[in-house]
Amino acid sequence: MKRVYLDYAASTPVDPAVEGAMKPYFGEIFANAHSLHRFGQEASAAIFEARKKIAKSIGANYPEIVFTGSATEANNLAIRGAIKACNIAKPEIVTLTIEHESVLETCRDLERQGVKVHYLPVSKEGFVDIEQIKKVLNKNTVLVSVIYANNEIGTIQPIAAIAKEIGNWKLRNQNNYPLFHTDAVQALQYLDCDVEKLGVDLMTLSAHKIYGPKGIGALYVRSVRGARNDRGDRNENKSIKQSDRSSIIEPIITGSGQEGGLRSGTDNTPYIVGFGEALAITIKMREKENKRIKILRDYFWKNLKKLLPKIELNGSLENRLPNNLNIYFPGHRNQELLIKLDLLGIASSPGAACSTRVSKVSFVLEALGFPEERAGGSLRFSLGRQTTKKDIDYAISVIKKAVKNNK
Ligand code: PLP
Repeated sequence: MKRVYLDYAASTPVDPAVEGAMKPYFGEIFANAHSLHRFGQEASAAIFEARKKIAKSIGANYPEIVFTGSATEANNLAIRGAIKACNIAKPEIVTLTIEHESVLETCRDLERQGVKVHYLPVSKEGFVDIEQIKKVLNKNTVLVSVIYANNEIGTIQPIAAIAKEIGNWKLRNQNNYPLFHTDAVQALQYLDCDVEKLGVDLMTLSAHKIYGPKGIGALYVRSVRGARNDRGDRNENKSIKQSDRSSIIEPIITGSGQEGGLRSGTDNTPYIVGFGEALAITIKMREKENKRIKILRDYFWKNLKKLLPKIELNGSLENRLPNNLNIYFPGHRNQELLIKLDLLGIASSPGAACSTRVSKVSFVLEALGFPEERAGGSLRFSLGRQTTKKDIDYAISVIKKAVKNNK
């Protein structure tokens, strides 16, 4: 039976070139990168190169990259670390109702510890209204955290425009805060994630969504020395009071002080090397692959809709990741449909794969204002590098069969 994987938003296969780059660091060059001997220095040099590669790809300086064990951990570090570092008695966070659970659950946990969290709604199309963010900013706002591209519906938030408004607010109020964080895990494969263009202070990344290994993430942490000047150097911004801390966040994992003290634990050399290689390949392929995949995705949607006119797309088709479709199948339960498709060789998802609450309907679709019937009757199809037109034709015929047989 033909099998077609359409769940690249959940995870991607490791690129063979990435696997090749990682291999020596499991055996030959295995030493602890913080050991002073030559063995250790070889590992340390490889980590340095990967850090530089990743930093360059996102317009950052290499000391601003903090490797973590996952993007979940990076989101925790950004949010908890910002709250720990602030000297504000009643700190507040602003975030969206459609964030990844690693952001939402962290916020909920902090709420239980007395932090006030504003969960801003999004439109039916899946976008935040910047005016809503401006409305809730105040002197207690420590962090604004907005997902760059949503993992379920692929909608892209106006990160640079939000950063501009936050910057204006800070200047007007002569305030260091709020910091601006974005979860760019889903965006990294398809969108420019240059931190200067986006204007973010903190950015979360993950290797396994870009054809790298699972279990390695990174947090970009803007250096405390302020914004860059036109030459790309760091420049003191005199109009904003500078913090005298060594970092804008504090660690949540303490120990031997690796990663500039922000994330203790022995460096995962092969995975860090793999992450660097995966991102370099992604950047090289990005433009061409984006075009190819968008054509396939649009072909998929147009032809499926022609065959099944009652289906509907969740979230806007504009400002959406080029590989994402999230489709409502009226009269169907997504779990049942998913199993039926799986038995016919098509892999899809009812929403976030990492959710432990798989039997619940998508909170993202509910946050768009859809009733339970629609949120529980929708499936996500996400395309990737290995997806071909033949795969899509096969998927269309299988979905048609599964949907029609259910009637
Ligand atoms: N943020 C987003 C938007 C995601 O899609 C995911 C994974 O699905 C994560 C965070 C968590 O990433 P990781 O699996 O590296 O913890």
